[in-house]
Amino acid sequence: MKVLVINCGSSSLKYQVIDSDTENVLAKGLCERIGIDGVLTYQKPGIDKIKIEAPMPAHRQAVELVLKQLMDPEVGVIKSIDEIQAVGHRMVHGGEKFACSTLLTDEVLETVESCNDLAPLHNPPTLVGVAACKELMPSTPMVGVFDTAFHQTMPPEAYIYGVPYEYYEKYALRRYGFHGTSHKFVSQRAAEILGKRPEDLKIIVCHLGNGSSITAVDQGKSVDTSMGLTPLEGVIMGTRCGDIDPTIIEYVAQKENLTLEETLQVMNKKSGVLGISGVSSDFRDLEAAAAEGNERADLALKAFVHTVVKFIGSYVAVMNGVDVIAFTAGIGENDASIRAAVLEKFGFLGITLDEKANDMHGEERIISTPDSKVIAMAVPTNEELAICRDTVEIVTKKFVEEAVNEVLK
Ligand code: AMP
Repeated sequence: MKVLVINCGSSSLKYQVIDSDTENVLAKGLCERIGIDGVLTYQKPGIDKIKIEAPMPAHRQAVELVLKQLMDPEVGVIKSIDEIQAVGHRMVHGGEKFACSTLLTDEVLETVESCNDLAPLHNPPTLVGVAACKELMPSTPMVGVFDTAFHQTMPPEAYIYGVPYEYYEKYALRRYGFHGTSHKFVSQRAAEILGKRPEDLKIIVCHLGNGSSITAVDQGKSVDTSMGLTPLEGVIMGTRCGDIDPTIIEYVAQKENLTLEETLQVMNKKSGVLGISGVSSDFRDLEAAAAEGNERADLALKAFVHTVVKFIGSYVAVMNGVDVIAFTAGIGENDASIRAAVLEKFGFLGITLDEKANDMHGEERIISTPDSKVIAMAVPTNEELAICRDTVEIVTKKFVEEAVNEVLK
């Protein structure tokens, strides 16, 4: 089955076409500057990356251009739109309504829309993307895969905030967690690599990228995670502040003469390791600056490691032990020095690092020594493949149900 995977941002749209039988990516790319002017990039194995400037006043035109490119007689991968048998959409916030991926019927989309208050920046663009795809591919089934779904197994004591309970009842104010597709994929893959069932393991997944989150996965289920109502909570990130004393918001607003909205913008876009260092949000730049003696870049790296260590430590306690610590995403997969600095703090658990394995790049592997009491791993995440797999599962179920109904008629 050929599956189109779509990930919509407010002015961007990432896409991949995956052959679900081989799990190969047939083509992928990105539309940027939607609503401004419009740039489409297109990649296919064996050809040079193509970049096309074309007007994209809205997401509909972006989807239209993507489909046109996918059907291009010379470099395309399909002959007609009907070859796309399903579309999998990355959805950000499903509130408490979605504990798993689901077919995007009109009723479901209304329910997703009712969660918009919880993610005003992220949810509306994904809904616009779904509407555009539905318009252009009216008979193709669409599936929504939610970033929050995997964390719906958290127990109440992990998701409730220490604020009046009525806010939870009235406004659904609670911890939701994000990067769920990645945490699920990586925890399952880690178990698979070890030849074990997720049900038999306590795994801590460290998704460390531009946005970072850490999840405690006990017996295959998320039992706690570092992001909260929004992706602003948790570890210090590229540009997001992570955990702070809530009164800092008012303090900064007063001192800097900013509105609440402007202050939150600072916490989202100008904080994290960028804010501390004043250098960059990219760990490669920070490490280069620190090596040249930049003290604030060095401090930013140390502060990041410190918050990661605190979450891992607390999740060891939450799960009453840990079997595997798995690192993923841009920093988790590529940055050997960060992994080493984090794991060094867990010598007391009997973790010993295999430095040679840790220094390797890219592929999934165990980075602890064979006698290590806890297994440390680097496991590349693949959210698009995870979305594709969920999409195929749900669409196949739908096709089977329809076939059975036809027979029973
Ligand atoms: P992601 O959000 O998962 O795409 O991660 C992006 C971040 O990963 C970048 O901002 C960098 O901080 C980090 N990153 C990517 N490649 C490397 C690398 N080779 N070494 C260190 N950090 C990296």
